Amino acid sequence: MKNGKIGVTTENIFPVIKKFLYSDHEIFLRELVSNAVDATQKLRTLASTGVFAGETGELAVRIAVDKEARTLTVTDNGIGMSAEEVDRYINQIAFSGAEEFLAKYQNQAIIGHFGLGFYSAFMVSDKVEIFTQSYDSEKPSVHWVCDGSPEYTMEELSEKRERGTTIVLHLSEECAEYAEESKVNELLGTYCRVLPVAVIFGKVKEWKDGKYVDTEKDNRINDTEPLWTRKPADITEEQYKAFYQALYPMSEEPLFSIHLNIDYPFHLTGILYFPRIHNNFEIQKNKIQLYCNQVFVTDEVQGIVPEYLTLLHGVIDSPDIPLNVSRSYLQSDSNVKKISGYITRKVAERLNELFTSMRAEYEQ
Ligand code: ADP
Repeated sequence: MKNGKIGVTTENIFPVIKKFLYSDHEIFLRELVSNAVDATQKLRTLASTGVFAGETGELAVRIAVDKEARTLTVTDNGIGMSAEEVDRYINQIAFSGAEEFLAKYQNQAIIGHFGLGFYSAFMVSDKVEIFTQSYDSEKPSVHWVCDGSPEYTMEELSEKRERGTTIVLHLSEECAEYAEESKVNELLGTYCRVLPVAVIFGKVKEWKDGKYVDTEKDNRINDTEPLWTRKPADITEEQYKAFYQALYPMSEEPLFSIHLNIDYPFHLTGILYFPRIHNNFEIQKNKIQLYCNQVFVTDEVQGIVPEYLTLLHGVIDSPDIPLNVSRSYLQSDSNVKKISGYITRKVAERLNELFTSMRAEYEQ
């Protein structure tokens, strides 16, 4: 058993976390699921390079809630952590104090709230537990508990767990809603619809013999290969339209779509749609969703897509857009400038093409 203090110099970092991000605390789920997805991706990499020789099995992230116990758990079968790794990655967090923390995160309004990571769990929890087993089966399983003060306990378990990590959130009274199935389903629908690993929420209940019973059927949240990650040549016009409907249910069919796919000098994929514009047209902003490696970041893309193109709809996905910076910095970032230029050029090219090949429709 090891008792210790998380590596912060400010005793009260947790209240700061709670207070500062209070209004947006639901992002904790995205952070935990993202970590779990990363852990499975890392295992995949270790398996493909031969470092991990065992069976990976079907990699997945499972979320479950228990309303009575007021808990929410996120479980993955990824790389897991040894005791030393929990020490390094969880205990010794690099915050040097509340001020730096605030400086780092105060401009997050822009682009979601990446980077807060595991500790965002404390925004909604009185106590957080980690159960983890490293992919290295020589290493014992570990149990870590922290009640929201900087003190934690960590012990190696005598009984081995399955590979991977389970995070148990003991939700605070004010945050009891995160133990509600409907609430968690809604959040997963927002943040996790297209992650690259299966995300499964609880078990599906089925009406049988006059009552609801658990089925073995998985309640799969996400599509691991969303349309924009596939090759344009393999996608039909119908599929583009269906994807649009999935993004914006009940919307009118778009005029046309543009599939973005570039590897150099930056990575960016996506699909943009040009909506039908009517005379009583009201500009609807926040219709473009920004993703980073299939993790939803924000639907505020000002600074990335030029203002006059924000009437476009669709999805852009790029790991090269800095996420933890202020909006003014963002606009001066060279990658962002290039990305913005690229999007503009692509839209212009497409309009030009329509102008020459489909003049009548274009004018319409
Ligand atoms: P970040 O993900 O931005 O690095 P976090 O605070 O979320 O920061 O996590 C810190 C580290 O803890 C991660 O980089 C990873 O090494 C480790 N970690 C967190 N969650 C898991 C998990 N589910 N499985 C394995 N390692 C994890």
